[in-house]
Amino acid sequence: MIHFAIEKANHVLVIAHVDPDGDAIGSLTAVGQGLQQIGKRVTLVCDDAVPPRFHNLPLAADVRRASKTDFLYDLVIAVDCADESRMGWAYACLPEPKPTLANIDHHITNTRFGAFNVIEPAASSTAEILHRFLPDLGVTLTPSIAASLLTGIVTDTMGFRTSNVTAATLRAAADLVDAGADIAAISLRALHQRPLATARLWGIGLGGMKFDDGLLWTAISRDDLRLAGIEGRPSSSGLVNFLADVDVAVMGVVLSETPEGNVNVSMRCTAPYNVAEVALQFGGGGHALAAGCTLNGPLEAAEAALVAACRAAIARQRPQPALSRA
Ligand code: 5GP
Ligand code: MN
Repeated sequence: MIHFAIEKANHVLVIAHVDPDGDAIGSLTAVGQGLQQIGKRVTLVCDDAVPPRFHNLPLAADVRRASKTDFLYDLVIAVDCADESRMGWAYACLPEPKPTLANIDHHITNTRFGAFNVIEPAASSTAEILHRFLPDLGVTLTPSIAASLLTGIVTDTMGFRTSNVTAATLRAAADLVDAGADIAAISLRALHQRPLATARLWGIGLGGMKFDDGLLWTAISRDDLRLAGIEGRPSSSGLVNFLADVDVAVMGVVLSETPEGNVNVSMRCTAPYNVAEVALQFGGGGHALAAGCTLNGPLEAAEAALVAACRAAIARQRPQPALSRA
């Protein structure tokens, strides 16, 4: 039972997925605060930096890259990671035998890679799962834990607008507001404010967008990122959501070249289409309506391969008109 494993542990390593989003950072910092509250020593790690819009969250400043020199953990908790590779170097660098691994996540594609697996695909976000899980451990939801968790729910549901929002999601959010989270401030920071460089990148991305048979996509090169003034990893989720919201699009895709020359892919679609199916073909994953993967460069080849797979998926998944009776 995962609760016993946590009770027994002294020093817990908590890992959020590479290229972290609001649910990853909200869940990471909420688990960190909760475990500290019940007397645990915690180390919070992520391969990539915390995006600036989440810097105000408690413990965000303590999130760091894994270090090869400290291994003294009794337990590892992965949050919001659909498979082992999503933990990246943070887990891979731990020497064998690795500590017991607990996996808390809401992705339908989760591979149940932990010794303990708390997987709830019906939950809107990992933060929604934690809103019940942490109190079960004896944690009191303080205003700052509530702020972390509500950040996770608000970002993964795009402000309670995704199809996986349920009455339970709204009740969880209401509990977190009761616990002291400022929903207006959290929504503004996490969803709406964006850096000037991101707005410039949207300009470039929208300028280069292409449309074919329901697929609306754009490919962003390293030169584009430099031109826009993006430092580090760009956040493409705003742009890909914008593309998928265009009325004639059933699928929106942003391909973005990384400094190492790989290509990160973000995909969104409307039901009954399914982008997780496409992401899985390239070793990625996610949800039916929001998924991602990473391809090898060069950008043009990755774009050709991905666009072909998306076109095939659209043709396969397109609803068939009902046969009329003669
Ligand atoms: P985003 O486009 O916002 O980066 O990701 C959309 C969804 O797909 C998220 O739920 C994210 O966890 C998942 N996802 C993105 N990239 C990958 C990947 O490379 N592997 C897996 N398993 N999931 C991914
Ligand atoms: Mn999530």
